Amino acid sequence: MKFWFLLLCTSIIMGFFKLPIGVIQSCSKPGLATLTFDDGITSSSSLILDILEKNNVRAAFFIIGETLKANNFFVLKRSYDQGHTIGNHTWKHSYLNKMTDEQIEEDVLTTQNGFASVSRQPLKKFFRPPYGANNQRVYDKLVSMGFTVVLWNMDLRDWRAAKTKKQIWDSYKNHISNANPLKDSFIILLHTKEKTAALLPDIIALAKAKGFKLVSLDECISHN
Ligand SMILES: [Zn+2]
Repeated sequence: MKFWFLLLCTSIIMGFFKLPIGVIQSCSKPGLATLTFDDGITSSSSLILDILEKNNVRAAFFIIGETLKANNFFVLKRSYDQGHTIGNHTWKHSYLNKMTDEQIEEDVLTTQNGFASVSRQPLKKFFRPPYGANNQRVYDKLVSMGFTVVLWNMDLRDWRAAKTKKQIWDSYKNHISNANPLKDSFIILLHTKEKTAALLPDIIALAKAKGFKLVSLDECISHN
């Protein structure tokens, strides 16, 4: 009875979260964690870069093309210079599942060209679908364009305006306290928000204290 009940629950959950085959949600080895910041360049970006630099941590920024305004280019350039990963998050935070393959290609390439105008490095193509929304068609289209599609397995919901700093911190503490670096790894979803920047030194310190190694997105998903 228990077995059938578990099987039923699993089928229901899988039905709700039909993730494409191949999409990345965690690092390839236990004990690793990587910080990813979504949605683009904001007034908190420079502070986040300061904190990452001070702690010698390389993170990933999934950027909305629309935030690539001329006066933000120095922030983007600094992100590249500090060794962070820059990933594509569409031009306008678009919901890809409702777009045609042609629309996806145009949106994503326009954003990608914005990065290319600032970076002198060869661009590694990472992509995060807004809202995490994608399906096998969208995923296959992005992969055919050369992208590695990255989701997450820890969401502190800092994107919700109503979430207080304390609630975000409690949620993080809860995740990390229940985790085991011998078994678990994390791709942590964060946003370039003031409250997140304020918590960042403690987020880094607690991950390290618990035995997680904070690595770049490249190292997190690498199989070497
Ligand atoms: Zn987003």
